[in-house]
Amino acid sequence: MELPNIPYSVSHRNVKYPRLEFRTGKLLLILPLGLKPSPILDKHKKWIIKKMAFVEECLKQASDKRMIERTEKEFRNLTHSVIGEALMEMGGRLDHIYFRIMKTKWASLSSRGNLTINRLMKHLPIHLLNYVIFHEIVHLEEKRHNDKFWERISRRFNNYEDLEKELFVYWFRIQSLGRV
Ligand SMILES: [Zn+2]
Repeated sequence: MELPNIPYSVSHRNVKYPRLEFRTGKLLLILPLGLKPSPILDKHKKWIIKKMAFVEECLKQASDKRMIERTEKEFRNLTHSVIGEALMEMGGRLDHIYFRIMKTKWASLSSRGNLTINRLMKHLPIHLLNYVIFHEIVHLEEKRHNDKFWERISRRFNNYEDLEKELFVYWFRIQSLGRV
């Protein structure tokens, strides 16, 4: 095992395959019952080190991020109007819009056209709200994160890589405030 300074914890669960998570900024190994961590850590060492560097950078930037305060009503009205604009631009329609606290994502779109918005998006600045929603609406047309998908995204947000990163930074910021 050659991952000296990287702290990690292990959780053995009733899962089929091992999984690595960085949800809280710390490495969590989820392993099938009875499996040892060392081979998994060894096998994914490069990926872990790269990811860890990214996470550390996000955590550093997180403390400077300002949380936006909106009332629930302001947030929902704003979200609905941003969704309306994105639908006008992209075409397509949604079945339902739900607001929930989610622990792993900002938003998600089901195959039935239900959009779920993470209520924690309430704290995001408008440019990130715009981006997350547009991203989900593009998924109405293209489900996967393939070239065609990113090409469409980049026509509207050519800095989408920066925005994706800023979303991570905000995610860690919100985590650190214990709102998840
Ligand atoms: Zn996506």
